[in-house]
Amino acid sequence: MKSSSAIVIGAGIGGIAAAAHLARRGLHVTVLEKNSRPGGRCDHFSREGHHFDTGPTLLIMPQVYEAEFAALGASMHEMLDLQRVDPSYRLVFDDGSGLALTSDMKSMHDQLEAIETGSFQGFLRYMEEGDRHYPLAMDRLVSRDFRTASQFFSLRNLPLLFTLKPLAHHYRHMSAFVDEPRLKAALTFQDVYMGLSPFEAPATFSMMPYTELAHGVWYPKGGMYRVVEALMDIARQSGVEFAFNETVERIDVNATRARGVVLADGRKLEADIVLANADLPYVYGNLLPEDGLAEKLARKRFSCSVVSFFWGVNQSYETLGPHTLFLADDYRENFESIRRLTFPEHPSLYVHAPSRLDPSMAPPGEDTLIAIVPVGHLDESIDENGRSQQYSKEISDRARQAVFQRLAALGITGLEAHIKFEEFYTPLSWRKRYNLMKGSTHGLSHTLTQLGYLRPHNRHPHYHNLYFTGASTHPGTGVPTALISARLVSERIIEERV
Ligand SMILES: Cc1cc2nc3c(=O)[nH]c(=O)nc-3n(C[C@H](O)[C@H](O)[C@H](O)COP(=O)(O)OP(=O)(O)OC[C@H]3O[C@@H](n4cnc5c(N)ncnc54)[C@H](O)[C@@H]3O)c2cc1C
Repeated sequence: MKSSSAIVIGAGIGGIAAAAHLARRGLHVTVLEKNSRPGGRCDHFSREGHHFDTGPTLLIMPQVYEAEFAALGASMHEMLDLQRVDPSYRLVFDDGSGLALTSDMKSMHDQLEAIETGSFQGFLRYMEEGDRHYPLAMDRLVSRDFRTASQFFSLRNLPLLFTLKPLAHHYRHMSAFVDEPRLKAALTFQDVYMGLSPFEAPATFSMMPYTELAHGVWYPKGGMYRVVEALMDIARQSGVEFAFNETVERIDVNATRARGVVLADGRKLEADIVLANADLPYVYGNLLPEDGLAEKLARKRFSCSVVSFFWGVNQSYETLGPHTLFLADDYRENFESIRRLTFPEHPSLYVHAPSRLDPSMAPPGEDTLIAIVPVGHLDESIDENGRSQQYSKEISDRARQAVFQRLAALGITGLEAHIKFEEFYTPLSWRKRYNLMKGSTHGLSHTLTQLGYLRPHNRHPHYHNLYFTGASTHPGTGVPTALISARLVSERIIEERV
């Protein structure tokens, strides 16, 4: 019997992994990627001996990587040279005080008690809660495919309403554990990874700080792009064919099925199955006929965007740890202004120095620095030349100055004079490079009404052989989550293949 064929649109994490799963199950799979290299948001570049991960910098939930690599017949440990980053982050507050988040409980005790007497006990109770939330959320919500409403709103899931506290707001819920606003911020900022503010995120997300401390934050030697390279090796060995610099212009459909795709140069490619890894709202809005669904999706909540700076620096800043997070005292106002799509007066921000973990990431005696400043996503006011009315150079200038100011508080002054070169990405860059709607770096946000069955499904409601994988479908954003999404959709495709 002739094997079925599948076209995958996009070589992001979800696209590569799903292609490998399908090829391993006997399908003839071709991945079409608009860019010149694979990885999507998990991207990188090198310049003058400096190596930059431009998207993810934190490998969290290592056990998910392990399981998902195993599901692809590979060993994560053989393919990635991982080291644990501990302390995972150094947090710096506005008054210059700090907190090193570490799995060393003696150190956590001393640091927390110095900030708020009695807070260590609260922290331990918070970790216990995370320990309960994590396996439940992973097994019952994240790693499951919800194809019908009854699977999600089931009696079996009802107790989760009480145990996972999805209806409680994460930040407010922190009062049960600690009082100090700095500690509340230190134990909720991870919600940003979901594109959420802790003031609206469900308390379920206490599983994030828990997993970072309990299972660790890790770093693959050579950087996060090694994950992409490992997945590419698996996919190629499984027989997947890749075509780069190939933009899909539209998906060719009839009333109920996708017939294939049409490329930017007009070529038509046919396939039995089309799997879109490109950002889901973009696919509905740009690659499919108008039917009202795209407008509905565009009205959903999107996660924030970021302005990222990539600096090759001619001296090394050894005092700077690998992951430093500057948390603003006006924590709430920060999230509020991101939500209003305005630039925060005094932004919280993150600085990554990869050569603290792998010296080969910068030339000897020099440094490679990445700074990420969360900002609001793009609104729709784009002029006829594709320029955003809302986004201006002034915003990246202010973001850059904010990074310099914060680093100065750590004694790193005069950095500007040591920068050999700079590249930076704005919300407009994210939109253009990866076709992310509204330049939203984490895709559709993870509010309660956009999770599980309520998140856009991994199969199109009308075209029954058109599937989705990636950040804006179930389960959501993140590299480990994209690996889960790829497996779930591949299992569904194999099951539904006729
Ligand atoms: C700044 C930043 C920091 C992050 N930090 C972390 C982190 O530390 N840890 C973590 O786990 N996650 C992190 N993430 C999230 C993580 O990177 C993403 O959730 C994940 O990589 C998304 O993968 P995806 O499968 O959705 O594919 P995407 O990355 O969205 O890839 C989709 C691909 O489709 C291609 N494409 C789009 N349109 C077309 C078309 N018409 N034709 C052909 N190809 C097309 C795109 O070019 C792209 O390559 C971060 C993301 C960003 C942006």
